[in-house]
Amino acid sequence: MLIFRQLFDPQSSTYTYLLADPASREAVLIDPVFEQARRDAALIDELGLKLAWTLETHVHADHVTAAWLLREKLGSRIALSDQCGAEGADKYLKANEQLAFGKRHLETRPTPGHTSSCTTYVLDDRSMAFTGDALLIRGCGRTDFQGGDARTLFRSVREQIFSLPERCLLYPGHDYRGLTVTSVGEEKLYNPRLAESVGEGDFVGYMTHLGLPHPKQMDVAVPANMKCGKPVKSTTSDPDWAPLTYTFAGIWEVQPHWLEEHLRDVQILDVREPDEFNGPLGHVPGARLIPLGKLKDEVGELDPNNPIVVVCRSGARSAQATLMLGKAGFGKVANLSGGMLRWRAQRFGVEGGTE
Ligand code: FE
Repeated sequence: MLIFRQLFDPQSSTYTYLLADPASREAVLIDPVFEQARRDAALIDELGLKLAWTLETHVHADHVTAAWLLREKLGSRIALSDQCGAEGADKYLKANEQLAFGKRHLETRPTPGHTSSCTTYVLDDRSMAFTGDALLIRGCGRTDFQGGDARTLFRSVREQIFSLPERCLLYPGHDYRGLTVTSVGEEKLYNPRLAESVGEGDFVGYMTHLGLPHPKQMDVAVPANMKCGKPVKSTTSDPDWAPLTYTFAGIWEVQPHWLEEHLRDVQILDVREPDEFNGPLGHVPGARLIPLGKLKDEVGELDPNNPIVVVCRSGARSAQATLMLGKAGFGKVANLSGGMLRWRAQRFGVEGGTE
């Protein structure tokens, strides 16, 4: 028996996997995401589990790991590949090492190619494997940075993943299309890059000409993950006036759907310029306009006892305003995640604006 949950981070399209032994309640979490640490800790608590280990399939470039946060919160230990060079882990895993949780265990298989230290974790009975970005559903991770190499990835997938039983379920590190799981047999047949009918030369040619943009989070995520996700400054207490998430940049964020249901319970502060506030995107109903440049002088207009949700176009200027308000002594402040762009994309009501 196994307790198993697949969790998703919509910001980075990352899957996190919770596995636990039902008898001992010992659990492992593969690829936890920094912003989801509170969610994951709550689930682990509700299921009555004890988090023994957090594991990483590789040094991620698109999100920061929650490994450090969860160790602080739950006393879990951090395990990583001995090839990844990150500091601060409790255990560095060698090739084909077994990591136990209760009566169950995962086996590490090195699957480099997307990065030089990618690892696939295989469940003891070979019914499931967690491939990270080495193999995605009908795809694979890019091979153009972090020591990536197409030829190496081809061999990793063929030798370490396709050698598992055909019925073995494969759980990837990401999916961008809503798919959740595949199997060895399925990918051998239908993976357009790595199916058994595709040759190594074809694959290398394909990967060399992908021409992907530089990942947005890379400059923040990689250095942070090389320290197991230890933040520069850490937060002591969790605010409880809304279901907030704490970002690695040190900002509390609230999701648009929560704000929509609580428009009357908070002060909504829009820090864009007047022509944007009255422009085509419109503004959140009831929002008060104080452009970022004037915030320092006009901060006295805000009620320090009532929570403030700060809004701008995409969430960047409002993040800045959130930090300024914190320094000015406002305790209950959060940034609207994704700003007006996401608010409009999710079709919430606006004042002003055009369709
Ligand atoms: Fe990756």
